[in-house]
Amino acid sequence: MKSRRAIEQAATEARRAAAEIRIPVDPVAVAMHLGCKVVQRNFTDDLSGVLVRKDGAVTIAVNSEDSLLRRRFTIAHECGHLVLAHEGEIFIDKQVVNRRDGNSSLAIDDKEIEANQFAASLLMPRDAVVHHLDELLYSCRNRAVLIEQLASKFKVSRQAMEIRLVNLGLLGSPSDDD
Ligand SMILES: [Zn+2]
Repeated sequence: MKSRRAIEQAATEARRAAAEIRIPVDPVAVAMHLGCKVVQRNFTDDLSGVLVRKDGAVTIAVNSEDSLLRRRFTIAHECGHLVLAHEGEIFIDKQVVNRRDGNSSLAIDDKEIEANQFAASLLMPRDAVVHHLDELLYSCRNRAVLIEQLASKFKVSRQAMEIRLVNLGLLGSPSDDD
């Protein structure tokens, strides 16, 4: 299992190499810079995304029925499999659900946890999160509002943003508020 720091670093490098230095980060641009084609498919089941390596070509397919925010996270997750050099010709991802520990209910193996951590790091770069949180704290102290405003700025789900803030140590766990 790679360290969080190593994954964070890999995400920063991938983002900079693709010249994605503004927020919101475009995961499609990062995927393309990795030599990857991104397509949308109307999957019939609960698939979020698929990464296929075949004959030297790499394709990420995302579920066209998913919301924009979910598709963005899925593409970033698949980029993680590539950048972190996970072995395998095909990765099939059902609902890439993000939880505080980086696990999803369906993704419990190391590669999936790492890919989720990579996605969070790619879409919500630490420095940018710290900067925007600092700015918002001048005018707002309400947890839910802060999360919502940051989520909309970074184009991620509120859930993904809350987990990221907690993981970065910028926000306590919801239960800490009592
Ligand atoms: Zn995966």
